[in-house]
Amino acid sequence: MKSKFIRKIIILIGVFTLAFSSTVLAAEYKLLPLASLYKWSTPQDIKWIYIQDGVYDYHSSIVSGLNGWEEKTSKLNYSEGDDSSWDMRFWSDDMGSTGWHGWCNPVLKLVNLNDYYYSSFINDKAELVAHEVGHANGLDDVDSTKVLMRSSGYNHSKYPTSDDIEGINQLY
Ligand SMILES: [Zn+2]
Repeated sequence: MKSKFIRKIIILIGVFTLAFSSTVLAAEYKLLPLASLYKWSTPQDIKWIYIQDGVYDYHSSIVSGLNGWEEKTSKLNYSEGDDSSWDMRFWSDDMGSTGWHGWCNPVLKLVNLNDYYYSSFINDKAELVAHEVGHANGLDDVDSTKVLMRSSGYNHSKYPTSDDIEGINQLY
């Protein structure tokens, strides 16, 4: 009689542990504040331009980083526009010791790439681009080392993870 009761308690604890761990394992993404107000209005047709003011050319890294998103979700499509038709601008220059390698203004859809730290991200340029584009897409930094939207460092992969994509599915 007593052991049955204890077994029931143990099963109950097990069920609660499962329920708890499934919430802990929820997707690791965060939307930017008010992201729905400035998310892409035409996510299937996002036009970008690139302005190179520094010595390094990021054109192929931009194409590669954008492909990372396109390969993982059919909801976003990017193509190169021109001066008269663009939704997002990339701008590279030596911006000094700002503390950031790249920075995105998600409302203006402006991605800055800082030549000053080139040697620190030379092998991860496409990932840096993909991360910053994640902000333009409406995602915030996440305190996790696994996702593309990690708040610092590199995974040596330009691909958003399933968690990053869940964020996109939440918004689009
Ligand atoms: Zn970031």
